[in-house]
Amino acid sequence: MNLLACLCGSKSWAPGFQARHSTYRRCDSCGTHFRISVDVDKGQREDFRDTYARQPRVQSAAERRRQLWPDLLERIANSYDEDHPNQSGRKPNLLDVGCGFGDFLVAAQKLDWMVHGIEMNQLMKEKCEELGIEITSNLLPQGAYATKSFDVITYFNVLDSIPDPVKELETARKRLSKAGRAWIRVPNGSFHTALLSRLKHLPALGSWYLNREWSPLNTWMITPKGLRLLLEGAGFGSVRITASPLKHRGILGRLLEKRPQIGSIGLCSSSILASGRKE
Ligand SMILES: [Zn+2]
Repeated sequence: MNLLACLCGSKSWAPGFQARHSTYRRCDSCGTHFRISVDVDKGQREDFRDTYARQPRVQSAAERRRQLWPDLLERIANSYDEDHPNQSGRKPNLLDVGCGFGDFLVAAQKLDWMVHGIEMNQLMKEKCEELGIEITSNLLPQGAYATKSFDVITYFNVLDSIPDPVKELETARKRLSKAGRAWIRVPNGSFHTALLSRLKHLPALGSWYLNREWSPLNTWMITPKGLRLLLEGAGFGSVRITASPLKHRGILGRLLEKRPQIGSIGLCSSSILASGRKE
């Protein structure tokens, strides 16, 4: 099968699984799944520009994700200081792609960071404007912020819904200043595809799982290996991949947090956090 290249660069695909409204193909090389069809009659399509912000599922996910911001900001700030050893005290210039209702940017603003957003959804964009955030609905490959450069560009639960993540990250790299970093949080494709293949035989449990806000049936289901190859292929160096902060996941999260490297916890983390530096 040769539909298009995977985000890792491979063109070798195997049949993947069918779940809810989507049929997937699996990359032979990195195990990432790519959605090749969407059943348009199910009414479950994500209309990012229009109805997306009004879905209760999306609103509750945004609410829960807020608990991640302090931990993520601390990780990004520490990494920024490490990457810029001679600029102590300088605050990063941040762009959040798919910034939703703008609450991550507001949290960064409270630390005196300069903040900018990209948000395709009109309602969300208006909320950000009310908060005084500089924002556009244009996308980076379409020329958004073409004259600016950023120290940090973030994609939190966004990149797996972008049809061409390679082009997106290549453009993001151009918009970064020297030693700037792109940060990406996505559902862990290894975790979710392993779970889905087991739940196939347990329809009731499978249906419950697929209706959770964190069930990751987006365009891509990216494995840690795929994410590393994607970042390296888009020209990033010093790539780091860990489990995403898990403080909002209760006792299990706190246990996993003590061993955050993907290599040591295998498939156990439901989300992964990656960053790559512009060398
Ligand atoms: Zn791949």
